[in-house]
Amino acid sequence: MITTNLKVPTGNICIMTGEKGMLEFLSIGDYGKTANVKANFMGINRELNGVPNGEIMPLTEKWVITISTQYGCSMGCKFCDVPRVGAGINATEKDMGDQIVLGLGLHPEVEATKRLNIHYARMGEPTFNPAVLENARKLHKIARPYVGNSLIHPVVSTMLPKSNRLLMEFLNEWCDIKNYTYRGDAGLQFSINSTNDDQRYDMFNGSSLSLREISDIGKALVPPIGRKYTLNFALADEYEVDAKKLREMFNPGKFMVKITPLHKTRSCEENGITTTGGYESFTPYKKAEEELMAEGFDVLVFIPSYDEDRGMITCGNAILSGKRPDVEYSMESGTDGVGKVENICKYKKRSYLCRWNGDKGVKTIKQ
Ligand code: SF4
Repeated sequence: MITTNLKVPTGNICIMTGEKGMLEFLSIGDYGKTANVKANFMGINRELNGVPNGEIMPLTEKWVITISTQYGCSMGCKFCDVPRVGAGINATEKDMGDQIVLGLGLHPEVEATKRLNIHYARMGEPTFNPAVLENARKLHKIARPYVGNSLIHPVVSTMLPKSNRLLMEFLNEWCDIKNYTYRGDAGLQFSINSTNDDQRYDMFNGSSLSLREISDIGKALVPPIGRKYTLNFALADEYEVDAKKLREMFNPGKFMVKITPLHKTRSCEENGITTTGGYESFTPYKKAEEELMAEGFDVLVFIPSYDEDRGMITCGNAILSGKRPDVEYSMESGTDGVGKVENICKYKKRSYLCRWNGDKGVKTIKQ
């Protein structure tokens, strides 16, 4: 059951009751790669000097559901608010299926989509939870009553925890799911963020493997079918991106690189981690992008809009941590989507009365 539903500019952030407590998931749309991506290898060459707030594509084009794999997280990454929610206790397979079903149920008018992305990336480190693998194998069965035989693209993002003894088993099985269950149409992303091990130790709170250990894992993985495995760089000021070092450790035939700004979480603010100018100009990414391409990597730069980042749909955010979006939003609470509920939401220090009127949606009244 959904207990809280925040409607933000690009979709919904929901909290539901799971088998062990509260879980948070997203149902969101996307502006599309012509608006928020630069990727020369895909023929999208223009520089991105910020991404204006705008209209998302219809969900029939692309729909993203991002779910929690754990209740909280124990990794303690310095840029992330999820550890504030609590320890990383694994969600059950039912919990994950329920998040997807509730997310899809928010839009009964959408009966099919060209692409349904399922990201195991809201709360938790997914490789600790073998139920992620079980859930991924069942996605078509779970989604069929809502979107028929629409294309489903599941993605696992991991920071490669050193305390996970079963990490390699998880990754091998995920690659099997990517390559064969989904015939390549699935993603595996490694959170790297810096090529400097000291910086990585600091930002990941000592919880991630060293780059050399991650490189060894990369070499041991079977070659990807479809999209290459992704090395993610959430690029804050001062974070090192040494393209030659990366090329020595990762094969550009097997790995591509994705660059994003670091999102504006409460933990980033408190720890002074920021990507200066990253939402307005291409400058912070330009050098890294050029040097990585010169070393043979496919590079994709993805920049969210202010509405997306301030709307807390980006990674590292969690409503359950107590933070609220810094954009106009409406909220219904204490309801499973029916009945009348009123709530006070705050935006720019003003209060709004949000009234939920069943299928007529949320009405927001300025106070
Ligand atoms: S970034 Fe991921 S692994 Fe790190 S604390 Fe946040 S949820 Fe956990």
